Amino acid sequence: MTDTQSYLFYQTRTPRPFLDRGEGIYLYDESGKRYIDASSGAMVSNIGHSNPRVLAKMKAQMDKATFGYRLHFRTHPSEDLAAKTVAMTPDGLDRVFFVSGGSEAVESAVKLARQCALATGQGRRHKVISRYPSYHGCTFGALDLTGYDPLREPFAPMMEGMPKVAAPTTYLDRDALSEEERGIRYAELLRDKIEEAGPDTVLAFLMEPIGGASTGALVAPDSYYTRIREICDAYGVLLIFDEVMSGAGRTGKFLAAEHWGITPDIVALSKGFGAGYAPLGAIIAGARLVEPVLDSGGFQHGFTYAGNPLACAAGLAVLEELENHNLIENAARMGEVLKAKLQALMARYPIIGDVRGKGLLLAFELVADRETMQPLPKDWNAHARLVEIAYDLGLIIYSRRTRGGIEGDHFLICPPLVITEPQIDEIMHLLDTALARYAE
Ligand code: PMP
Repeated sequence: MTDTQSYLFYQTRTPRPFLDRGEGIYLYDESGKRYIDASSGAMVSNIGHSNPRVLAKMKAQMDKATFGYRLHFRTHPSEDLAAKTVAMTPDGLDRVFFVSGGSEAVESAVKLARQCALATGQGRRHKVISRYPSYHGCTFGALDLTGYDPLREPFAPMMEGMPKVAAPTTYLDRDALSEEERGIRYAELLRDKIEEAGPDTVLAFLMEPIGGASTGALVAPDSYYTRIREICDAYGVLLIFDEVMSGAGRTGKFLAAEHWGITPDIVALSKGFGAGYAPLGAIIAGARLVEPVLDSGGFQHGFTYAGNPLACAAGLAVLEELENHNLIENAARMGEVLKAKLQALMARYPIIGDVRGKGLLLAFELVADRETMQPLPKDWNAHARLVEIAYDLGLIIYSRRTRGGIEGDHFLICPPLVITEPQIDEIMHLLDTALARYAE
């Protein structure tokens, strides 16, 4: 195959070089050029590329069996991965269902919630409120729950159209209200939305605890999370956290939910859970939700590849890496270092309007005016241009131009959790060079 010929069709026509190999935080193309993977792919490669211990465990499983259908056999990798996942998550989340990706995890969470309502005599509850902006996946159901019109419009009319509520931003109303008041104010929008939808028809509230691609690592005020939990409890609405991007240690805790000491009813995981070694995801829920479903005939749901032993062996090896090498603590520590360095860069480049995030789920935003957070003109295409300049320099970052709720050019800087301080300096040097070239 030549560089220009391809039978594949993806989102973009931009030709990219052929990938040769990966090693830790680095990727190499076939010409030998080295790239720092400062976005872990799409926040996937949490433990870095080509980890030899993970590969060895996968090879050992390959020598035994790569596939066994879950309704025909139990497998040790899937049982062991489920046990390890439960051990790493907060109390109250003790049942696991495997899937192969993030959209599958989101849809599985919603279907579990719905079946739980049916099994407990609450069949009227069917509406799932999600936020605007948000991203929950590209399958029809997950896209219907995604709060981002440009992604949904091409496929309209979609299904029923689920209610949406505004996600909090860090800077709207920042002068008028205190941080705590802003958190409460945004959380109370959920109460209004539940009342408007009809409380006995609302099944669940779905949210990314820290918006990834949708908002560029926006973290809500602490008061938002605790109030959201209270509102869901008051109305008997299930709280589903989409931790596809924020989970598996990325923010310095296994689940981002742990930062606020709240336990969602269902959590969706993927990306860093398989960490690029296998297409893998999971939903984790409490027995309180799952047992009535099993008692009433079982969960009427399941993907063919779900829980396959090879993917689960990879996932288990990934969690062992997180634990044995203290990578979640490293994400917290290195996240502080990286954030401080991004803030120092912001002091030198007025075009950077904000630096934000938790652990190694970090982002910066380019603006026309830092005071008003006025975005750059859309036709400047800043999000794409800076990414291309960085790519040429051998630095991979992940960007989005969002609109609606917040509008702007966001750049996620989310390197693998194995990153060291000297490697952060390499990222910063390249980012500085890229910004200087962009500003030329
Ligand atoms: N939820 C969130 C928060 C995501 O970031 C993504 C992927 N970017 C998904 C769901 C969908 O995951 P997948 O692409 O693996 O289906």
